[in-house]
Amino acid sequence: MSLPDLAAELAALDARGLKRHRRLLESPQSARVVVDGREVVAFCSNDYLGLAGDPRLAAAAAEGAARYGVGAGASHLILGHAAAHHRLEDALAQFVRLPRALLFSTGYMANIGIVTALAGRDDAVFADKLNHASLNDAVLLSRAGFKRYPHGDLAALEKLLAASQARRKLVVSDAVFSMDGDIAPVTDLLRLCERYDAWLVIDDAHGFGVLGETGGGALQHYGVVSPRIVYMATLGKAAGVFGAFVAGEPDVIETLVQHARPYIYTTATPPLLAHALLASLEIIAAEHWRRELLAQLINQLKRGMAGLRWRLMPSDTAIQPLVIGPNDEALHVSEQLAARGVLVPAIRPPTVPQGSARLRISLSAAHSEQDVAQLLQALHDVGARA
Ligand SMILES: *Cc1c(COP(=O)(O)O)cnc(C)c1O
Repeated sequence: MSLPDLAAELAALDARGLKRHRRLLESPQSARVVVDGREVVAFCSNDYLGLAGDPRLAAAAAEGAARYGVGAGASHLILGHAAAHHRLEDALAQFVRLPRALLFSTGYMANIGIVTALAGRDDAVFADKLNHASLNDAVLLSRAGFKRYPHGDLAALEKLLAASQARRKLVVSDAVFSMDGDIAPVTDLLRLCERYDAWLVIDDAHGFGVLGETGGGALQHYGVVSPRIVYMATLGKAAGVFGAFVAGEPDVIETLVQHARPYIYTTATPPLLAHALLASLEIIAAEHWRRELLAQLINQLKRGMAGLRWRLMPSDTAIQPLVIGPNDEALHVSEQLAARGVLVPAIRPPTVPQGSARLRISLSAAHSEQDVAQLLQALHDVGARA
C-alpha cells in the first residue's frame, strides 16, 4: 500500500459516484439552516422533535457547565461518574419503564458494548439484514456466530434459531430501520426469542422520543415488556443532545458495567450534556404537540406525492425514503433540489443495497407546513424535468 494506491482508489470511488462530501453547517441544526453560506430548508437531520437548537437546552447546558465544569476528566469507573450522569440514568430508566439504565458516549459504542459483553465465541447473534452498521460491527468484534436474516423475514429467523446449537443466542434489530423508516415487529420478535430462549436487543435510535404516547419509544409503541429485552436508544437524535443509553434488567446492566469495553475504556461524557438531557426528557414528555405536528407533516408529505414519478417507501415514521434507483440519478435529483433551496441527502450503496439509491427525507417538528409544501413543489418541478 502506497500513497498512489490510495489516490487511485479515491479516484475510482469518485468515478462510481460514491465519493462523499461534507457540507458546512453554519447555523444550529433546524428546519432552516445556513449551509455553505446559503439559507436552505433541510430534510437531512435526525432532530425529529426539533430540540437540537432549542434555547432551553442550550441554557441547561450552560447551567450544567457552571455547575460541573466542562470535562468529566475520568472514565465512569474511575472518578468520571458525576451526579448528573447518575440522575440521568435514573430518569431514563423511568422514562422507558425498565429497571435500570446505563449511559454510553455514543450509540455506536453502546451497540459494540452490548453485543461484545453478552456474546462470545460459543454464542450466536441473529440479525436483520438492514440493521445499522454499528450492530454488524459489534457482532464481528464479538467473534460470535453471525446469522443474518432477510429484512423482516420472521420465518427465516425462526429457521435459524431452531437450527442453532449456540450456548447463548441474541436477536438484534433496529426498531425503526434508519434507511427505510419501517418499524420492526418487536412483539413477534419477542415471541420467537421466548420460544428459542434468546435475548432480544432492540436499537431504538430513531424511535426514542418519537414513538409511543409520551415518546417512550418502540416498546411503548407496542406495549411490550420483558426481562429478555435489552433496549438501546441514542440521545443525539430526537432528544437533541448527544450520547446513548442501554436499559434492561439490573443484572444485564451490571454485566455491561463490568464487561463492556466501550463503557470501561473511555472518558465519561461531559456532565453538562447529562444536565441538558434531563431538561430534554421533560420537554419530550410534556410537549406532545411535537409528535402530533410530526404526524401531520408525514401525512402532508404522503398526500402531496400523488402524481410524482418516484414512490415513497412504505413508512409511517419521520424517515420517508424516496426510491430513485441508480446512484447518479439520485445524486442528480438531490443536486436539483439543492439548486431550489431544498436539501435532501442522496443515500447510496454501501449504506443501502445496490440499485436502491434513494433520497432520505427526514421530517422534524422543527418543520412547518410551508417547509413541506416547498419540498413537494421542488420535487414536482424536478420530476417534470427529469
Ligand atoms: C445513529 C444510529 C446509531 C449510532 O448512534 P450514535 O449515537 O450516533 O453513535 C446506532 N444505531 C442506529 C440505528 C442509528 O441510527
